[in-house]
Amino acid sequence: MPIQTETSIASQEYQISYAELMDLSPHSALLNFHVRHDQRIEHITARSKQSKACFKGCAYCCFFKVIADAVEIFAMVDYVKENIDPQQLDQIIVSAKYNIEEARNLSHEEQSTINQQCPLLIDNTCVIYPVRSIKCRNFHATDVSTCHASYNNPKDLTILNNNIPEVYIAAMGSGDGFMAALHNHGYDDRTYDHNAAFIEALENTDCKQRYDAGRRAFKTAKYDND
Ligand code: SF4
Repeated sequence: MPIQTETSIASQEYQISYAELMDLSPHSALLNFHVRHDQRIEHITARSKQSKACFKGCAYCCFFKVIADAVEIFAMVDYVKENIDPQQLDQIIVSAKYNIEEARNLSHEEQSTINQQCPLLIDNTCVIYPVRSIKCRNFHATDVSTCHASYNNPKDLTILNNNIPEVYIAAMGSGDGFMAALHNHGYDDRTYDHNAAFIEALENTDCKQRYDAGRRAFKTAKYDND
């Protein structure tokens, strides 16, 4: 079977997601998308000659700058409210607010040159793993030494992780297809700073109302082009 291009996977996912969003909420469509997305990645990874070096407990990538789309942030907040105990939630809030302050006066590029532990990483485990973002789902490496090197030298932006090209292409196309469907249904598809958007969504229910009305979901959290 020929390898699908990023564009063909994006188009396939777009059609499925666009049709689903006629009847489903963005949240329900996202959960359905996660199943298709993970299956695509698993299928292509299994057929690849290369292997991922990622393993449970390895979390170097959870110290790199994390960004997520609005619908993903709402899914994380809902998950945390339903599944995380109050003490852990306090820990997440403190950690996210620390990251926000540390990055407050840094440019996008400068933020990529510091290690910040994702607030949702507790005891080296992602506590919202089933609803982690598309970016987190897509990230992988064939050699942990590059992740380690980047973690140890965060200012060196020339260190790139080695990924499996066909998996990367499929993952990007799949995510782009879903986000394009959301966009064409009028939903905010900006990619926001994970820490600030998470806190804003947790503390202010207006974010969700703005999102449902097709407006910019977050007022203070920055997005990629801010
Ligand atoms: S959301 Fe989970 S997988 Fe993504 S950076 Fe945070 S801890 Fe890691």
